[in-house]
Amino acid sequence: MQELGQNPGQIRGRVLSVASEAVPLIKTGGLADVVGALPGALARVGWDMRVLLPAYRSLRSKLDAMDEVWFESGLFGGDARVFAGDVAGMQVLLLDAPHLYDREGGPYTGPGGDWFDNARRFAALSWVAAQIARTGLGDWKPDILHAHDWQAGFAPAYLAYGGALGVRSVLTIHNIAFQGWAPAQALTDLRLPFEQFYPGALEYYGGLSSLKAGLVTADRITTVSPNYAAELMRPEFGMGLQGVIAQRADVVSGILNGVDTAVWSPEAEPIPYSARALKGKAANRAALCAEFGLEVPGPLAILVSRLTDQKGIDLLEATIPDFIAGGGGLAVLGSGDPALEAAVRRLEARFPGRVSVRIGYDEALSHRLFAGGDAVLVPSRFEPCGLTQMYGLAYGTVPVVSAVGGLADTVIHASPAALTAGVATGIVFHPVDAVAFGHALRGLLHLYAHKSQWAQVQKNAMKQPVGWEASAAAYAELYEGLRA
Ligand code: ADP
Repeated sequence: MQELGQNPGQIRGRVLSVASEAVPLIKTGGLADVVGALPGALARVGWDMRVLLPAYRSLRSKLDAMDEVWFESGLFGGDARVFAGDVAGMQVLLLDAPHLYDREGGPYTGPGGDWFDNARRFAALSWVAAQIARTGLGDWKPDILHAHDWQAGFAPAYLAYGGALGVRSVLTIHNIAFQGWAPAQALTDLRLPFEQFYPGALEYYGGLSSLKAGLVTADRITTVSPNYAAELMRPEFGMGLQGVIAQRADVVSGILNGVDTAVWSPEAEPIPYSARALKGKAANRAALCAEFGLEVPGPLAILVSRLTDQKGIDLLEATIPDFIAGGGGLAVLGSGDPALEAAVRRLEARFPGRVSVRIGYDEALSHRLFAGGDAVLVPSRFEPCGLTQMYGLAYGTVPVVSAVGGLADTVIHASPAALTAGVATGIVFHPVDAVAFGHALRGLLHLYAHKSQWAQVQKNAMKQPVGWEASAAAYAELYEGLRA
């Protein structure tokens, strides 16, 4: 790896990545962060990745500065072109099919909810990905087709059913909850082979699922943490696909996401600090308390999250009162389910000066929370990878997490043994209920009161590598192995 870093001209292989979103072009969730970060991270280890995305209306202005490289007439009801170019430092391929993507609204939803033709819109994206994977674009010929989530799930299937011509495929699951369901009647319309409609292949509970199609045809399946890879084979987490994934266990693996350490670094904050100079964190804490109107003698916990059932927000009302009684405080930034917004608002009303809530989405404010907080709470019911616990590690904002998915892979519980060994980075609890979470919060109060141990945990946390380097190396190894 090191040698390659010193010799950036050397290319080990080429990957066509296909997805419905990528930062900084279009984002609705964490998927976009990963798809947008991978090309840069992989380039550093010698893999040339290009990203195929739909040319949504908001992206069509980019086409003028790009080159038309591919054309198909009658692609699922209209003409389609692919344009290639460097957009925001990334080699991007935009699929311009106005009948599918040139609409006012989001990538998946319009004014009345989900677009009625989503199955076809993303089947088209997948179809084009498989075609380009097979034929290449000029002298750029991919070795690997890397498809992300249900939107690209048909891509490995089209590749497999139409002849892969030596191209190998990878499907990454970022969120198993969305499975790209379509009725069986759509089979022909979606250019899928009728003979593959049986339970061992395309059929899914009487219909079709693009995610399942990818799962049964991809050469490799990955998800965004090793622990989530194992969880997905169990009914509690697999959401109906556990059997399909378990059957392919020999090709399933988990590769943790990274975070952009240029953006998420305490040394890059307005009041900078580091593991060696933690004093700056106290100044951030004071500023945060002033901004949120808080006065907290014990640990100041923060929570930056979508307020949904997945995130375990309903556990707060039963546990935070004791935490407050023990000297703790809580600053919340989030939005989502109105009932959960109301629940955190009730805590705020009940504990003025100790609980403070901002409803909304605010990236700059989230930075101030991580810089100023003592601990970050992540009591998720499931969490494929999770980012906020990694921000917490980087900022010495001790993560208090449930033992699920990527949370369990990234945080080392401050057990007596781990504290003695000097490896603890946070507090991990199980099962995901109010009793265990309450116990974890008492543990937080206790740890915070033991200043030298607390500082040790903070420093251990800040030493954890959370950037993309390890992930990129793992993907590179996966691609390498597939080619061999
Ligand atoms: P998920 O993708 O399930 O929401 P992750 O932890 O993987 O959970 O990623 C969530 C991302 O969104 C993190 O970067 C987090 O900081 C950010 N985020 C969530 N809610 C807010 C908010 N209200 N304001 C700012 N950032 C937020």
